[in-house]
Amino acid sequence: GAATIPTASDSGVQVIVRIRPPSKDEEEEGSVVQKLTGNSVSISDHTFTFDSVADTVSTQEDVFHLVGLPLVENCLAGFNSSIFAYGQTGSGKTYTMWGPPTALSDENSLSNERGLTPRVFERLFSRINEEQIKHSKKELTYHCTCSFLEIYNEQITDLLDPTQRNLQIREDVGTGVYVESLTEEFVYTLKDVNQLLMKGLANRRTGATSVNLESSRSHCVFTCVIRSQFKNVEDGLNAARMSRINLVDLAGSERQKHTKAAGDRLKEAGNINKSLSQLGNLINILGEVSQSGKQRHIPYRDSKLTFLLQESLGGNAKLAMICAVSPSVRCKSESLSTLRFAQRAK
Ligand code: ADP
Ligand code: MG
Repeated sequence: GAATIPTASDSGVQVIVRIRPPSKDEEEEGSVVQKLTGNSVSISDHTFTFDSVADTVSTQEDVFHLVGLPLVENCLAGFNSSIFAYGQTGSGKTYTMWGPPTALSDENSLSNERGLTPRVFERLFSRINEEQIKHSKKELTYHCTCSFLEIYNEQITDLLDPTQRNLQIREDVGTGVYVESLTEEFVYTLKDVNQLLMKGLANRRTGATSVNLESSRSHCVFTCVIRSQFKNVEDGLNAARMSRINLVDLAGSERQKHTKAAGDRLKEAGNINKSLSQLGNLINILGEVSQSGKQRHIPYRDSKLTFLLQESLGGNAKLAMICAVSPSVRCKSESLSTLRFAQRAK
């Protein structure tokens, strides 16, 4: 039957857990993370409850229904709306947010494996079209621009033009927080978005040590600014609206191993924890504020990620956190720490 659209989330953070399917090796070793009825998850003798749980048989489409559809509606209603993927390296964050790069090409743009982001934009453009048809008598126009950046070691790189490194965050009374000289491209179709994603993902940080290691230490932020203009033909009055979508593939949440990290490496580890741990702190504070209604100082400026996204965290912003876990015994302690983080975000 027809799928129902979940209602827009309230002021709290929507937290979902996604348990990825085990790899061949993991299958033999057995699973420690299990989905229970009632959106609960068990790991060893701990049980946690979330807004939703996607298990090993959940599809990309299922995840889109849980968090993507409400995001688009929230955004069209004028709310800044974000989805974060949190979890240890290898837990399925990148697969969830963008999907495999092959699913972004024109020929494969309807692949079942396509991730949340292409599905969100497919939906956004079709909803914009519907809204425009509905308001045919009046004039309703939309303009969408996208940017794609990476935060690594507390430094911002433009993924659409990687010659632009160490970009600075600025604040303007009119336009708010922005990244100076970051590339912003107009997008009109899903194809436009997929091309930007492919370009940006190809520019993700790779380093001397290991591709996987380096990219697992950076945060990737894909942002779309949606501006609408509503001109009433009868009275000639204009109404303008702006909202943002942020899709964020966070750095791996695993604790930095106590290897012989020294100098730059050590500094790097600290900085990466800074954006990630500040995001965690902030989400905890926002949860407390929304429950108690009390004012609290919110330390947005303490990291690049939270400074950049401050207008999309708190206030009227809508947040969804997808906490990705591997089912494997091998990942038990990291999975437990991800679920604890997810619990605190509620
Ligand atoms: P992360 O970005 O958290 O490091 P990835 O998204 O790269 O993890 O996922 C690790 C591996 O698991 C990849 O090979 C990915 O294709 C695979 N994978 C992750 N989630 C799923 C899923 N739900 N279904 C099938 N394969 C998945
Ligand atoms: Mg990844």
